Amino acid sequence: MTIASRAVLVVEDEPQLRRVLRTLLELENFRVIEADSAERGLAEARTHKPDLLIVDLGLPDRDGTEVITGVRSWSRVPIIVLSARTDESDKVAALDAGADDYITKPFGARELSARVQVALRHTASAGAAGATLQIGAWRVDLQARIARDDSGGELHLTPTEYRLLEVLAQHIGLVVTHRTLLQQVWGPGSAQQTHYLRVYMKQLRSKLEPDPARPRWLLTETGVGYRLALRE
Ligand code: CA
Repeated sequence: MTIASRAVLVVEDEPQLRRVLRTLLELENFRVIEADSAERGLAEARTHKPDLLIVDLGLPDRDGTEVITGVRSWSRVPIIVLSARTDESDKVAALDAGADDYITKPFGARELSARVQVALRHTASAGAAGATLQIGAWRVDLQARIARDDSGGELHLTPTEYRLLEVLAQHIGLVVTHRTLLQQVWGPGSAQQTHYLRVYMKQLRSKLEPDPARPRWLLTETGVGYRLALRE
């Protein structure tokens, strides 16, 4: 299927990094629009209606989070944040403001490509995906709440474990913050109870992961949340 190439708006003030992003994205057939400030980013987003935004959090005029909030007031377009390695609270704030994922600087071409594909695919299939998951040997039917392996062996998961998987699966391949997980699994009053998550993720890993100490599917994003890895 050949369609007009999709557009990515890059909001980043460092010219060198913008060049790198442009090169990598153009190699994958994206059309690239650049903005070097939050103000310009917001204006370009309205003018060009890009298919994806990549937003640096440290912009000269305003915080990148304000770009996210601004765009989110009128659009569900996927937004990926660029951030420095140590800025965990900034990543969380950006995700809570409506970003879909983040890339930590410095990043490689493959990571960028993977994040971009997941974010685009997620919007394309939002709502439809996630009914059945293959995690290690287990095929997990989230609707029927049954987990089986190829030999018909059945795995018992509790309703809370299913609910946690369900929320992660709704964002498959993307990071989900502690707060989002806690609110959606345990309710609005539980946003601070991160120990619930630690306990339940440990349980889920011990049930589903072939090597729970080195998870391949249920990944920890330190200081931010968890990610259900998307594997083909
Ligand atoms: Ca910057």
